[in-house]
Amino acid sequence: MEQRANNISRLEGGQFDVLIVGGGINGAVSAAVLQGRGLNVAVVDRGDWAGFTSSSSSNLAWGGFKYLENYELNLVRKLSTSRNRLLKAYPSNITELGFLAALDHSSPFPPWLAALGSSAYWAIGNFQTQRPQILGPEEMKAEEPVINIDNVRGGIEYYDAYLRDNDSRFVFNFIRSALESGASAANYVELSSAEREGGLWRARLRDLEDGHDFELTARVIVNAAGPFADGLNDIWGTKTEHRIVYSKGIHLVVPQLTASERVLAFFDDTQRLFYVIPMGRRSVIGTTDTRVDTPFTEVTEEDRQFLLRQINARLDLDQPLTNDDIISERCGVRPLVVKNDGDDREDTDWTTLSRKHEIEVDDHHRVITIFGGKLTDCLNVGEEVAEAAEELGLLLHPDDGHWYGEPPEEVRQDFMRQAKRMKLDDLRHKKGVEPLSERLWRRYGRRAFGMLDEIREDARMGEDIMHSADYLRVELHHAARSEMITKLEDFMLRRSKIDLVVRTDKIRTADGLSEVAEILFGDHADEKLAEYLATGEKVDQPS
Ligand SMILES: Cc1cc2nc3c(=O)[nH]c(=O)nc-3n(C[C@H](O)[C@H](O)[C@H](O)COP(=O)(O)OP(=O)(O)OC[C@H]3O[C@@H](n4cnc5c(N)ncnc54)[C@H](O)[C@@H]3O)c2cc1C
Repeated sequence: MEQRANNISRLEGGQFDVLIVGGGINGAVSAAVLQGRGLNVAVVDRGDWAGFTSSSSSNLAWGGFKYLENYELNLVRKLSTSRNRLLKAYPSNITELGFLAALDHSSPFPPWLAALGSSAYWAIGNFQTQRPQILGPEEMKAEEPVINIDNVRGGIEYYDAYLRDNDSRFVFNFIRSALESGASAANYVELSSAEREGGLWRARLRDLEDGHDFELTARVIVNAAGPFADGLNDIWGTKTEHRIVYSKGIHLVVPQLTASERVLAFFDDTQRLFYVIPMGRRSVIGTTDTRVDTPFTEVTEEDRQFLLRQINARLDLDQPLTNDDIISERCGVRPLVVKNDGDDREDTDWTTLSRKHEIEVDDHHRVITIFGGKLTDCLNVGEEVAEAAEELGLLLHPDDGHWYGEPPEEVRQDFMRQAKRMKLDDLRHKKGVEPLSERLWRRYGRRAFGMLDEIREDARMGEDIMHSADYLRVELHHAARSEMITKLEDFMLRRSKIDLVVRTDKIRTADGLSEVAEILFGDHADEKLAEYLATGEKVDQPS
């Protein structure tokens, strides 16, 4: 709470080089690169960081194998290169994993053609992942007994990558990087209006927590409002060559369907790919791809039944999955970029619209707009926004690459040595669960050193705070100080993924929940807890 209040005081009346509107992946990465390269940056979001689209993804960093279907070789090349860069820069957070795709008689491709495609995909990705392979139905069954091979002709296994923690935590790391380099940032702050005055932008903002309005000035605005980018440009009259259309996608989180850490891929009855994606001790089924006219969407009973029907038909389960197995749900719209003069007619197949991004610079208004983009492509988006800022005359320090990535391997080894000396993993060892040292390093990097000190000083800091939540007391104290948690939901759903992987009734009755609120909000704990419990039913939970 204090961290946010300090940032709001810096924003109020402040003079900035750049104001970034939107704290999803595109706004977060822009903040990290521009502040990291020496500009004075303000970044705001009217919700929580990654509170909109960037917390509804499949958590994959991938080259887009399926885009080869539309012959988008350039896009696949770009995304594969981005995936490779992410794998290198985030060795603990982004992990390569297999995609085992089962092909049945109604699939659009026979296994041999899919195998050819996967080899091309591997080559386009510069052979940086494991080599793909073709499998017969029996081999698939041996690898993944859960797959129903009655109709399966064969399959392929190719490799991509996924974010081990949530998309939203990945996004927050860029906000934190910007904050640590000196940016002023606040969630739950909305840009209400902005106008040019004396060669500068004068922006009016509202703190949505207490309703007070304030102003700041900036030389350039970065419009990173994702699905809302067009509406924002309308406010100040920026005309662009592109605009956004929406494709809705849903995910269902269910108990773990396979213990192996790989993605299972299937074609649904409409011949679109959908997946079973690992999420710790859970599995995530998704996603759908439906044209919608509004960014505000929710999972409908029809969506739910569609996905459950598809997955039940393709797996050998003791009992088919039903609504009762759904632990939580996610729903969002992909902001897809189209030319202003067409290609989104009623009869356009939505799935064939490109997933590429576009960055447009309005020299006259001094606005940079980011259209589309994927989590996977975030480093490219950051670099292109930096180029656009230079185009508008802002002076950036040379790019030394320090605005992204994990600390070097020797720092990690030093951390692991210290953790070993204090027997951290022995103390908290649970069978089948990731060692604590690795978990802390992945989540906090260099900041995890301080946590070791705190646990050494007070053993209670090393205790689990909520049963099955995989969070230590020390992590909560750290989050309270430096993860800008404004509502309890910010922690439960986005900095952690507790709301995604634990059933609502278990969370509500969990012993540690009040202590979580106390650590995060001090004197305001009761009020914040009541607010969370009142909205909890709505948050990503099936009704
Ligand atoms: C179902 C689904 C699955 C996906 N899977 C993947 C995947 O596996 N891998 C991948 O790479 N990509 C994936 N994507 C794509 C990716 O998630 C999105 O392209 C990306 O998150 C978009 O980020 P963004 O920053 O542009 O938008 P957002 O995350 O929506 O951020 C825009 C922000 O702007 C804020 N905002 C808007 N107006 C204002 C205002 N006036 N004042 C202040 N703030 C404002 C909003 O609150 C919002 O938080 C998926 C998308 C979906 C929907």
